[in-house]
Amino acid sequence: MEIKVRRVDKERIFIKDLTLFFGVFLLFTDVFFLIMGILYDMPLMRYVIYFKLVVNTTNLFLILRKHYIVSTVIIYFVILLFMIIGVVCTGLGQGFQMYALGMLACISYNGYLHRRLLKKQIPMFLTIAIHVLTYAGVCVYGECCAPLYQISKSGESILLAFNSIATFGIVILYVCLYYYVVVDSEEQLERMAMIDNLTGLYNRHFLLATLENREKRFMEGSYLAMLDIDNFKKVNDTYGHNCGDHILHEIASMAQEVCKDGIVCRWGGEEFILMTFQPESFEALRQRIADETFRFEERQLHITVTIGVAQYDGSLNNDEWISVADERLYYGKRNGKNQVVMQ
Ligand code: GH3
Ligand code: MG
Ligand code: MG
Repeated sequence: MEIKVRRVDKERIFIKDLTLFFGVFLLFTDVFFLIMGILYDMPLMRYVIYFKLVVNTTNLFLILRKHYIVSTVIIYFVILLFMIIGVVCTGLGQGFQMYALGMLACISYNGYLHRRLLKKQIPMFLTIAIHVLTYAGVCVYGECCAPLYQISKSGESILLAFNSIATFGIVILYVCLYYYVVVDSEEQLERMAMIDNLTGLYNRHFLLATLENREKRFMEGSYLAMLDIDNFKKVNDTYGHNCGDHILHEIASMAQEVCKDGIVCRWGGEEFILMTFQPESFEALRQRIADETFRFEERQLHITVTIGVAQYDGSLNNDEWISVADERLYYGKRNGKNQVVMQ
């Protein structure tokens, strides 16, 4: 639960920061193009920038008020419009058509926002089709019609350099961010698949995968123990399920402390598996749990556990090794509980 909450917070911060960055970045480009429009005397460019300044400033307020989707849609259309006006004003040589590239990032981000915030899939192909058609139209127009304004060679170079840096910068930023998001999500999923939510210990899948992948020579001399809490049903019945959960959590912590150099996992229910090269730690753990006074909501209770241990035997497969420990555990259960059965 905690992992999920933290993840949602992280995602909200990610969305806010990224959208805000995009909004501020657009305002910054507005200032640049306004200067260019004044320096190179391009009235149409200036008028469009005045309009863009109003829209982009409004947009910043929308972002601060968390209207991320509306804001991104506006950003999309503003860039689309600006690409068209840019080519009409100065032609294709200045790289305005490159904005089409940067807009792919905007389309993808918009799709992400719809999915995450509205749980809706936007018609991506439609957006991309509008985009490609506009780009093609702009290119055809640029090839067929002369630009509205003739600017100097140096002006062309400045525009081309700015448009290239802006477009590549945005695309590279998105590629890096999405790479981070994908890798982070995959790692998170892997962790969640291997970790038990209640105790924070590794789970059964992790143990089986570890046993499967570990080379035999590294297992020689190791011990596997199956630990089961005694009369745990009674704890739940008497003190409630929350108390039972608390005890499971406490016992998991103790097992990890005592079995520091080994592996401790929650096998299922109130059963744990411990793997270590130090068999004396099983008795130490049993003793520590038996001596402990567990506290839950001002109640005090005593808990015992029974542990069945099996030493590694190269002739047994992993299931058989676990079964030997399990049989010894049940031998212990039948013979009074609260004990470690080594053979
Ligand atoms: P024994 O000494 O023979 O092991 O008796 P026991 O009562 O511990 O064994 P039994 O298998 O009858 O009961 C296990 C109980 O563990 C039943 C189930 O309610 C409880 N349990 C399993 N998983 C959880 C859990 O995640 N939280 C809590 N609170 N209880 C759990
Ligand atoms: Mg059990
Ligand atoms: Mg039990």
